[in-house]
Order: sequence, then structure tokens, then C-alpha cells
Amino acid sequence: METLYFDNNATTRLDPEVREEMLPFLDGLYGNPSSAYALGRVIRDAIEQARERVAALIGAEPETILFTSCGTESDNAAIFSALEHDPDRKHIVTTKVEHSAIIKHAEKLARKGFDITWLKVDSSGRLNPDDLRKAVHDETAIVTIMMANNETGVLFPVHELAAIAAEAGAFFHTDAVQAVGKIPIDVTASPIDFLSLSAHKLHAPKGVGALYIRKGVKFHNFLVGGGQESGRRGGTENVASIVAMGKAAELARLALDEELTRVTALRDGFEVELRARISNLEINGGNVERLPNTSSLTFRDIDGEALLILLDQSGVCASAGSACTTGAVTPSHVLTAMGRDVESCKNTLRFSFSRFTTEDEVDHGIEHIVRAVEKIRSLCGSGPVVQHVAHREKSAIPA
Ligand code: PLP
Repeated sequence: METLYFDNNATTRLDPEVREEMLPFLDGLYGNPSSAYALGRVIRDAIEQARERVAALIGAEPETILFTSCGTESDNAAIFSALEHDPDRKHIVTTKVEHSAIIKHAEKLARKGFDITWLKVDSSGRLNPDDLRKAVHDETAIVTIMMANNETGVLFPVHELAAIAAEAGAFFHTDAVQAVGKIPIDVTASPIDFLSLSAHKLHAPKGVGALYIRKGVKFHNFLVGGGQESGRRGGTENVASIVAMGKAAELARLALDEELTRVTALRDGFEVELRARISNLEINGGNVERLPNTSSLTFRDIDGEALLILLDQSGVCASAGSACTTGAVTPSHVLTAMGRDVESCKNTLRFSFSRFTTEDEVDHGIEHIVRAVEKIRSLCGSGPVVQHVAHREKSAIPA
């Protein structure tokens, strides 16, 4: 059975060129970059080349890039650094739709006595910069607002938001994990102090990320240890993965313009076709600026869990608008913040494409989705749909 991978916001496949580039560093090039002899120097140079490549993708200088273990670490490190910088500033501004790497951290800080302002979004997932203007004050340590939402792809006006934070003397961090490599980014266009990246959203391996730290911003170490990364992060570097991230960043930069157009057309075609063939279909964030690759769809009268199961049986990988933990369905905090009820969250699936997604795959995906929806509609009225799908329909839908 053909796998149709439409979950690229969760993670991406490793680009063969990236794999090729990293392999020598898992093999003969095993030296420690901190070593003074030739084998160490070769490794150090490879890390510096990766730094240049990652920097180029976001319009930054190489020395502003700090390699980390993942996007989550980058997010945590930025907030940690800002709070260390001025312990008298105990106010943080963020949004209700951030990734858990920010939300859980902010909730933890709230329990420790920090004051958190949670900015709202409207029904399209948009944020009003005036809300940030009203929220910041002279005790605001950091404003942390994502560049692109992972569930809907909706973009926030980070340059305008960074300027507002700067006026209040607060640091500005943006979680750009979903945006990097999908849309053009120029960190020098505004006073963005910190920007998080993650390699595995870019066709590089999991377990490596980066944090952009604006020139002149004093960084307070999140990981304390050796003098690696110019003394900004202790721990021997994950060399092969850093090299891979560098190569992935270069490939993403070279393909950016072309892929932006191609993937937007793929995604738009996907949505147009589905809307023409499936009634009661809503595109979340469909009327606002969003990532080119992301399609968050609410199938109004279709049980999302049943749809996901049927799609899985036909090889289609997508993700749900709600997470099922220990039998209880937790509605997506993003869709909830956009004013959707529990039912709508349950009936929402996210499809996300990439540089490797072909038109053929999307066409096949559409057929599977339409067939699955018809199947569920035909089962409606004869008992719980999920039970039917999960227990009676053991085999895949015929192609
Ligand atoms: N931020 C956003 C917006 C994400 O989508 C993700 C991953 O899904 C992360 C942060 C975390 O990145 P990582 O998996 O590299 O820790």
C-alpha cells in the first residue's frame, strides 16, 4: 500500500542529500570539535559551515546562531535567558495558540509567581497587535509569539510585534519552527531578539535545533557546562545532525521561492477539490495569511476520529485536531482559542505538505478522503461511527 505522507508539520522525511552529507560524521569524521588536532579542526569547520548555512536561511550572521537539541530547547532557552537578564521583570506575554514548548513553560512560570498575559486570537486565528500594545509594560521581560501556527499555518505579524516589544524594553522571541524554510524570513527586518528553529521540520534529523540570538543581546546559558558554542551552551555538539541541519537549510533556501509557489498551488488545489466534492467543509484560517503547506479542515458532520482511522487504513497520514490521551479527547487548544466547539475540534484534521509531496500523491489523497467521507456518511444512523470503522472495517478501503 502506498503511503501518502501529509503530516509534514509533525515531522519530515530525511532528504537523501542531507543524509549523504551527514554520514561521514557518523563514520570516519568522529573527532571532537573541541580537539586541537586536525581531526577536531575538520569537524569544527563543518559545524561553522552549518552555522553559515542556517544563518543564511533567515538572513542572519553566522555568529548569531546557537545550535541546540531541538525547537523545544530553543524556546525554553530564549525565555530562560530573558528572565535571567533582569530578575525584576516578572511579566511575560504570549498567546493562547503557542506550541506546548512555550505554553507548558509559561504555565510553570505562572506557578512560580510570574505574571503571564495570554493574548487571544479571532475566529480566523489572527492576533491583534493592539492587544500586545496594551499588554506590555515596564516589567515585561519577554514577549514570545510564534511566527506560524503548527495546526492552522496562520502567520502572525512578528516584525510589527517585535517593534512593540522593543518599545517596552522587552525581549522579543518568535518560535519559527514551522515557518523556517517554508516562507522567506529576514531577522534583520525588525528587532527580533530570539528565533527558534528545528531541523526535523526541514528534512533533517530529529534531535537538533538552533536559536538565533540577535547581535548585542546578552545570552544567559540554559545549559551550563563546557565552553562549546562560544561558551553559550555546554555539551559536546551533535556534529552529524548539525551538519545535516546546515545542508537542509541550504537546500531549503535554494528551493524556497519555487517551492513556495508549487506547494501553495498543491495545497490550494487540494482544498478547492475537496470543497467541491465534500459539503460542510471548513478551512481553518483559510481567509488569512498562512503557511503554503498547511490545510486545517473541519468536516462539519463527519466524525474526525473515524475519518482518521479510515485514512490510516488507506495509507494516508494526517493528524487530528484533538489529542486522545487515556481515552479522553482533549480538544485542540488552537481551535478552541479560535472559538470552535468541542465537536468541531473533534472533526478537524490537519494535512501538511512538503517539498517531497507530489501532485499525484495529493490527487490520490483526495480520492481516499472523499471515499472515506462517503463511507462514514453511509454508516451514519447505524450506531457509533468510530466503532463501525474501527471494528468492522479491518481492511483498507479499496483503491
Ligand atoms: N514549536 C512548534 C511551533 C512546533 O510545531 C514544534 C514541533 O512540533 C516545536 C516547537 C518543537 O520542536 P521540536 O520537536 O524540535 O522540539
